Amino acid sequence: MRPAILFPLFAETCTLPGVGPRLEKLIAQVAGPRLKDLIFDLPTGVVDRSYRPKLITAEAGRIATVTVNVLDHLVPRVRQQPYRVRCSDDTAMIELIFFHAHEDYLKKTLPEGSQRLISGRVERFNNKLQMPHPDYIVAPGEEFPLHEPVYALTENLPGKVLVKAIRGALEKVPALPEWQDPAYLKARGWPSFGDALRKVHAPVHEADLAPTTPERQRLAFDELLANQLALMLIREAMRAAKGRALKGDGRLKAKALAALSFTLTEAQNQALAEIEADMASPTRMLRLLQGDVGSGKTIVAMLALLGAVEAGTQGALMAPTEILARQHMAALEPLAEAAGVRMALLTGRERGASREATLAALADGKIDILVGTHALFSEDVAFRDLGLVVVDEQHRFGVHQRMTLQGKGEKVTDVLVMTATPIPRTLALTAYGDMDVSRLHGRPPGRKPVETRVMPATRLDDVVEHLRKAIAHGARAYWVCPLVEESEKIDLAAAEERAEELKRTLGSAVGLVHGRMKPAERDGAMEKFKSGEIQVLVATTVIEVGVDVPEATIMVVEHAERFGLAQLHQLRGRVGRGTGKSSCLLVYQAPIGETAKARLQTLRDTDDGFVIAEEDLRLRGPGELLGTRQSGQLEFRMADIAVHGELLAAARDDAGLILSRDPDLKSPRGDALRTLLYLFGRDEAVRYLRAG
Ligand code: ADP
Ligand code: MG
Repeated sequence: MRPAILFPLFAETCTLPGVGPRLEKLIAQVAGPRLKDLIFDLPTGVVDRSYRPKLITAEAGRIATVTVNVLDHLVPRVRQQPYRVRCSDDTAMIELIFFHAHEDYLKKTLPEGSQRLISGRVERFNNKLQMPHPDYIVAPGEEFPLHEPVYALTENLPGKVLVKAIRGALEKVPALPEWQDPAYLKARGWPSFGDALRKVHAPVHEADLAPTTPERQRLAFDELLANQLALMLIREAMRAAKGRALKGDGRLKAKALAALSFTLTEAQNQALAEIEADMASPTRMLRLLQGDVGSGKTIVAMLALLGAVEAGTQGALMAPTEILARQHMAALEPLAEAAGVRMALLTGRERGASREATLAALADGKIDILVGTHALFSEDVAFRDLGLVVVDEQHRFGVHQRMTLQGKGEKVTDVLVMTATPIPRTLALTAYGDMDVSRLHGRPPGRKPVETRVMPATRLDDVVEHLRKAIAHGARAYWVCPLVEESEKIDLAAAEERAEELKRTLGSAVGLVHGRMKPAERDGAMEKFKSGEIQVLVATTVIEVGVDVPEATIMVVEHAERFGLAQLHQLRGRVGRGTGKSSCLLVYQAPIGETAKARLQTLRDTDDGFVIAEEDLRLRGPGELLGTRQSGQLEFRMADIAVHGELLAAARDDAGLILSRDPDLKSPRGDALRTLLYLFGRDEAVRYLRAG
């Protein structure tokens, strides 16, 4: 249950004076539906009204506060013209300019002959001083704030309204019990939660907006601590669930290894040893296997699955898409055969009698390893005894969270998540802090470096010419045209046009795959590319090219500037898998800035996925990197992972210490920490605490 002390902050914004249904909607767009969302809506700027010049020295372009005498009103003769009010001090004149003015109102606020204090942006036009639409006009003695926070707005939501709403929300912040260690706060020089909030919303200088101020750090640390505590609580609960020790005898693994045409790399052996140790322990395995596309994760997963079978249980391998499930099946079936293990495929496409037969065999234990998509977790799928689940997340995130929660209370299975995105260490902590991590470092086995070139779209003709020659020698190429959400239709049309154009220049060996195609159509095109019937495959997204075609040696990416570095790195990983020399051409649409170009150069200079990921994080921030929209648990409002990495590590240590002393958060500080979890929306974790 949410602590009563937080009730005021969980009230809806329409409870604030002056906020009705219309404003409530607009406020929800920029901040959220509740008062707590308003207090966490950080200012993005500050208006400084402390510049108080005499008119003669007033600098154009600056916000100024000036004391003036109102001389006269110049009422426009036609509606299109602005209303002007002439004013002066003892040094110069200034004209106040109003469009769509209400004469009565202006006559009342700016009576001729009166003195007024006004504030707004000063401009110079035809060598005359002007101030269009002053922000404040008051009589001498009246006041307005000399420093105002600026917040991100949306259409029809006036800044002043949002400022007032946030101020109203701040007044409702109760005195909360301190959840941080007082000694730590003192050492860091951090204020209390309430003081930090009030300070953050009252910037005076630009510097006050920096994420490194004591108050911003304090709030970031609060959020990170909530995040780490929640992950640890979930992790503990997962592990406390009566796990089982799965210990294979190695006989199936030996057969599979003998059937491989290669030996495992050191990194693979290391990762496998870590996984096997987890499986053999009586606590539940929750492990993340990280490694670039093609780094050899799948074979490691297969050997782990064989271990589960050796131990007398079944295994499941879940892929994010139909096509990848089929690819895993095709790649692993020979190994299963060599080991004498029964393997089957189950996706949304298996229906009717064959599906029934698979389900029956599965329940009987006649299938040892099941490969498939989300369909594996349909309600009617029952294993005889599922020991290990491998989730191949590829480029997607957030699946494991659901998986682990799903498994709660049901039969306890070990879980191994594979991800092809080299996640920076800091991010791995926040996204996968509830998991142990194994990494497959180094260039994927058997990979040759891919020559990478960055060029403007004006040189597209050269690219096509290069392609034409390579095709003549039997090469195969990917040509990626990205879609952006806002203009998907236009982009898709562009991709179709590109495919047509390439067809004309190169002959008929061009195919197109895009996200709007039916899966069967898409698979058909992919098959043709695999078989060589299609030599150039124009594709619109990353996922469609998630297929292993060793013969492909050229990757062209149009609008490379629209992709993140990690995505480009993954795209590049699609080539350089076979014996041929491969190249990657990153074509950008000018104009792009220097930093954007530098980003692309990073890719040219390194092929270490982890280095690229760190760079990507630094340049773009975590939200974009991970596609926060799909994975709510990564959304931080106070913390900026790119800046607060050090705080994250500290929060992790702190969370560990807290839970080692007070695992059920029952002490007074534990109680305060529960409040913290609710405040930052991490209360899911509270469910895992024993009552009390
Ligand atoms: P990932 O799942 O990490 O994307 P895969 O497991 O699909 O990578 O491996 C990519 C390719 O490398 C596959 O063709 C696989 O057979 C091959 N491979 C895996 N491990 C090795 C190894 N140790 N030596 C040589 N080739 C390997
Ligand atoms: Mg793979």
